[in-house]
Amino acid sequence: MPGGVNSPVRAFKAVGGAPRFIASAAGARVTDVDGNSYVDYVCSWGPMILGHGHPAVVNAIRDQAAVGVAYGAPSDLEVRLAELIQRSVPSIEMLRMVNSGTEATMAAIRLARAATGRPKIIKFEGCYHGHADSFLIRAGSGAATFGTPDSPGVTPATARDTLTAGFNDADSVTRLLTEHKGDVAAVIVEPVVGNMGVVPPEPGFLEALRQLTEAQGALLIFDEVMTGFRVARGGAQQRFGVRPDLTTLGKVIGGGLPVGAYGGRADLMRLIAPEGAVYQAGTLSGNPLSMRAGVATLETIEALSDFYDRLEDAGATLERGIAAELARRALPCTIARVASMWTLFMTPSQIRDWSSARRSDVAAYARFFQAMLERGFMLAPSQFEANFISAAHTSADIDATITAVRESLGVAFV
Ligand code: PMP
Repeated sequence: MPGGVNSPVRAFKAVGGAPRFIASAAGARVTDVDGNSYVDYVCSWGPMILGHGHPAVVNAIRDQAAVGVAYGAPSDLEVRLAELIQRSVPSIEMLRMVNSGTEATMAAIRLARAATGRPKIIKFEGCYHGHADSFLIRAGSGAATFGTPDSPGVTPATARDTLTAGFNDADSVTRLLTEHKGDVAAVIVEPVVGNMGVVPPEPGFLEALRQLTEAQGALLIFDEVMTGFRVARGGAQQRFGVRPDLTTLGKVIGGGLPVGAYGGRADLMRLIAPEGAVYQAGTLSGNPLSMRAGVATLETIEALSDFYDRLEDAGATLERGIAAELARRALPCTIARVASMWTLFMTPSQIRDWSSARRSDVAAYARFFQAMLERGFMLAPSQFEANFISAAHTSADIDATITAVRESLGVAFV
């Protein structure tokens, strides 16, 4: 396997050492093959919002396995998951299940191009929307970590149709829309960025994207693969009150099993085959195991009226603890957090886009990461990623994390 891993972000290339091979996971912890246990802030890169091995999800998967793991025909489970999603995300009037976030974003832009008859898309520097060719232009996540934001293998023709703007810079979008008037099918954005580390939208930015796209006849796509059912039950669009035309989902809605979904305005979604001519298909799409795990996860969330308040509290406690330490020692770091997503940037300046995020001292992050790992805390193995808190993280876990962060910052900045 290239790099010994099946997804580049899992390698420890940016922080040094060998990735831990995980033998088991339970609650807020993962245990490696050498028997070391870690408080897990990777949470499978977002999906494990209930923690690992939640009984409702485990039972759902076990029960479903006994009656079939793949049918290649519709099942009621797809309808149940679709209804759970729609109840929480009202802009999704109609949706299609797929197997990953990458598939969801890829299909969403195909649909946007078909619906508008326009070739180009606008994305933001440092945002990651999966590994489809069109998105590997100034991309975030592993592409940013490994210095390959523009991947070889993407043809110049494809690259020409992807325009890049600056996150939190509505003027850069205006300029592109003017310069390419009538050619832009859609603007796609992570409404809260996770893939250059956590970067929240500044007040008015998402509203400006809504207004600009509407004025130019382009579609607005919120990539909520990470933020969906994470920053609020209704995702970032609920939290910030902006309604996109299309939304992509993944991660949490599959409870840890492979999944993705895209949906939005019914008039657009009716263009998808077999109702319309825009082709998109999948052998295992809507597979009963993923659907059942997703239903169990979203039902568990729905049943707890204070679910997101508790995650917010845990996140706020962690942020306060870390911020106090940064202030006390006047360290050149910034803690960024939205709900249960957080990143400790090794730069003193406020992060608002990729050019500010990339000023981070990645060597200091590597030292900090290793010191946390030694103390039994598994963080994202790159500066340019989000960490995730799950409902299984206890206040004792959070307090222990603050202590470990304090010690590890001492190691990172001797
Ligand atoms: N969009 C966003 C915002 C993501 O964070 C990710 C994955 N981290 C993707 C798309 C791609 O999803 P997947 O890895 O399931 O293909």
